Amino acid sequence: MRAERTRFAPSPTGMLHIGGLRTALYAYFLAKQTGGDFVLRIEDTDQSRAVEGGVENIVRTLDRVGIQADEGFIWKDGRVTERGKFGPYLQSKRLAMYRAAADSLVQEGNAYHCFCSSERLAGVREKQQAEKRQPKYDRHCLELSKDAVHAELQKGTPFVIRLRVPEGETHWNDLIRGPVTFSNEEIDDQVLLKSDGFPTYHLAVVVDDNAMNITTVVRGEEWISPTPKHLMLNAMLGYTPPQFAHVPLLLNADKHKLSKRQADVSVESYLDRGYLAQALVNFVSTLGFNPRGDKEIYTIQELIEEFNLRKVKKSGAVVNFDKLDWMNRQYIQSMDDKTLMEAVRPFISSIPEQSSRILSVERDRVTTLTDLAQALAEYPLAPVFSQPHILIWKKSDGKTAIRMLERSAAFLSEECTATSVADLEHAMKEWIGREGFATGDVLWPLRVALSGKEKSASPFEYIYILGKEESMARIEHAISALKGNLS
Ligand code: GLU
Repeated sequence: MRAERTRFAPSPTGMLHIGGLRTALYAYFLAKQTGGDFVLRIEDTDQSRAVEGGVENIVRTLDRVGIQADEGFIWKDGRVTERGKFGPYLQSKRLAMYRAAADSLVQEGNAYHCFCSSERLAGVREKQQAEKRQPKYDRHCLELSKDAVHAELQKGTPFVIRLRVPEGETHWNDLIRGPVTFSNEEIDDQVLLKSDGFPTYHLAVVVDDNAMNITTVVRGEEWISPTPKHLMLNAMLGYTPPQFAHVPLLLNADKHKLSKRQADVSVESYLDRGYLAQALVNFVSTLGFNPRGDKEIYTIQELIEEFNLRKVKKSGAVVNFDKLDWMNRQYIQSMDDKTLMEAVRPFISSIPEQSSRILSVERDRVTTLTDLAQALAEYPLAPVFSQPHILIWKKSDGKTAIRMLERSAAFLSEECTATSVADLEHAMKEWIGREGFATGDVLWPLRVALSGKEKSASPFEYIYILGKEESMARIEHAISALKGNLS
């Protein structure tokens, strides 16, 4: 098996989103399973679309999900750092290479200067649209003689350099899609170098994938239609082209392209909301890909070993965030207490003394680390009864609530010796039966007295977590609140 060199080449136009992460992971798995290297390059040739902090977000987020590039940008000591011998890995720092490539293309007759104004181009486009033809550059400047070009350059007329698309067909065998063919007639004479001297993405990506010895390009399917241009450029520049694998789109439940308008798609926001990195990696990798039908939970190591581009579904993958919730719960439930406490630590300001008991009650109930953090903060908080009537069961009255709370307190302090949740439940229910009380008359006020909430964990869980002393104090407090309310 050849050692693959792959790359993730995002533009810094916003936060790293779920779809970008999936592409990055597939490229990463491919490199790692073959003992090759994964490169993180930043494509910032369209400076108008660059977003402040965009590079940092991408590099930091990959680091947070456990992906370190072998070359290019990495996150180190809290900041973006670069490493590797093929750098710089930021395209705006590689302009000389692209200009040299553009010059050689012009010299060989594979590209040409174009001096057309934007007004002229708009006019051409309008006319083509009116005639229901595909909008394409009309090759006006291809007709210019060498002398005419020279004269315009002398005058300092602004220009771009365009690819001269040859006749014929372009095809490749896509590692996900299979054979793909384009007729070159469909392809526009792409601008390669803009009037500001910056390359377009198309020139830069070809030059860099070659310069960085990339063997397989894994990228989103929106890049299928430009691929023929990239293959032409490879041939014209005398490069061996990489192989291509175009990853299908991610879709919303309504089968439209996953968009930030309809769902939260920023990877970092999931991490910040207490989804575990492993769960996110597992979830995102298995959108439209499952190495084995009978298994859902994969470690990153298993994904590296079992990743197979040929098993990536050709059609778009629907993203079901309920599945992410389910996966996150699986991961939380499988963690030991110590690891789970460490994971939740960044989400809490202090660790309460009841933390291990809270963990044992809540670990199978919570979906995210933030849910768990909330539980860790809330159990120790003594309730405030601003509306004491919530202590009264709907089929009961205030006096009964007070009496039952007093009886429960007496039972707990004098009779009950149980300490586990199950034993507490058993002992209390037996006592309720023995006394002939209505269960709701006892357990509703007791539970609300302990939690301060109409909806909460059971009173047995509260007593187990808080211990008898704190439980008694809360019951006393509830009794006074009710008395104050009745008087
Ligand atoms: N810079 C492109 C993007 O932002 C990457 C395309 C590619 O991987 O070739 O998606």
